[in-house]
Amino acid sequence: MLTLAEAWSLLEKELKPLPAQPVRLDQADGCQLQEPIVAQVDHPGFDNSAVDGYAVRVADLPGELPVAFEVFAGSGDLPKLAAGTCARIMTGARVPQGAEAVVMKEDVNLDGDTARFSDGVKIGQHIRRRSEEYQAGDLLVKAGARITPPMTALIASQGLDTVTVLPKPRAAILTTGDELRSAGEPLNPGEIYESNSAGLAAAVRSAGLDTPLIERCSDDFDETVSNLRDLEESHNLIITSGGASVGDKDHVITAAKEAGFRQLFWKCAIKPGKPIAVSVSERGTVLLALPGNPVSAMVCFVLFGLPTIAALRGKGFLRPEFVKAKAGADIPHREGRMDFVRGSLSSGHALPVSRKDSHMMSGLAGSEVLIVVPAISSGIKSGEPVAVVELDWRPIK
Ligand code: AMP
Ligand code: MG
Repeated sequence: MLTLAEAWSLLEKELKPLPAQPVRLDQADGCQLQEPIVAQVDHPGFDNSAVDGYAVRVADLPGELPVAFEVFAGSGDLPKLAAGTCARIMTGARVPQGAEAVVMKEDVNLDGDTARFSDGVKIGQHIRRRSEEYQAGDLLVKAGARITPPMTALIASQGLDTVTVLPKPRAAILTTGDELRSAGEPLNPGEIYESNSAGLAAAVRSAGLDTPLIERCSDDFDETVSNLRDLEESHNLIITSGGASVGDKDHVITAAKEAGFRQLFWKCAIKPGKPIAVSVSERGTVLLALPGNPVSAMVCFVLFGLPTIAALRGKGFLRPEFVKAKAGADIPHREGRMDFVRGSLSSGHALPVSRKDSHMMSGLAGSEVLIVVPAISSGIKSGEPVAVVELDWRPIK
């Protein structure tokens, strides 16, 4: 059986970043920009007020001035400010011609339509000058940047709604299993609530992708083939759950071949997660066939799903980091497969959780780390060095 390292390198060799493409700005956050963003407009685009207050000519101050007119944000045609008058002005409103400064509302005494100003007003105060930040043609964001929320706002402020980026893979989840029911449905004997799609969709989102499409499929070969064919056409990553092992009703492996996927490997010497299979279609859609056991599915997502997503996004095949720790208790192990034991981490000491079987989701839900027990280990003693994979569920950087 393939080791994890062998499975990883097979997958790494196969994966290429999705080609750059124009993407709607509201779907581009976190993506790597493939074009420089150049200012389309000056900013500010016109002299405007930084505060709510009064536009004045400085030579008229100190003293009392009649309020001649009002200027709001968005006001277009403005009268000129005549000597000996002032204008009420709001934040962001154009400064009328002739005005040299804005005095904050809080510093002005208003009596009817007359405003009283004290001295000390300086030319240019509280006026945001045209193009004081940048001019049309200036470089605002370099190609290659990862788009953050403030960059999104900056790009939007140029009147742009599309950017060329390395796109996020479109992911779909296909669950298989005749025993699975949805929330709200009554459970008949032998049935359980379907939970992997909720967990895997959340994991996909926490990796920074959009909400995946979720499809359900019964344990039927033809249905599985047609589901895989349909999903292949419109997705970059398909994650199936269940039906990947050797049971009489496990059809995913054969259905994937029938649907035109080329298998990279099936089965890996890890625990949990041994039945995992990975295939690719001619168009490059990656199929991660995960085991149905909920813990196995989630651990396989961490070990294979996250690096795959990173690679498709042009960040490289980012294997999970093995962080050094010490065993906080004896961890028994039988030689054979690399074990990812669910555990907590306290002051560098990794402690296995008690509910550790691959169908026991409460064990994984209560875990902060996967404790890595090498395949050749015959058990780790308390205090011995050990590696852990941190389960931080943060977007891939
Ligand atoms: P399988 O890999 O199809 O043999 O399934 C292994 C175990 O995982 C069985 O106990 C299934 O009932 C369970 N299982 C499979 N798919 C899901 C799912 N989507 N949600 C919860 N449990 C599942
Ligand atoms: Mg099944």
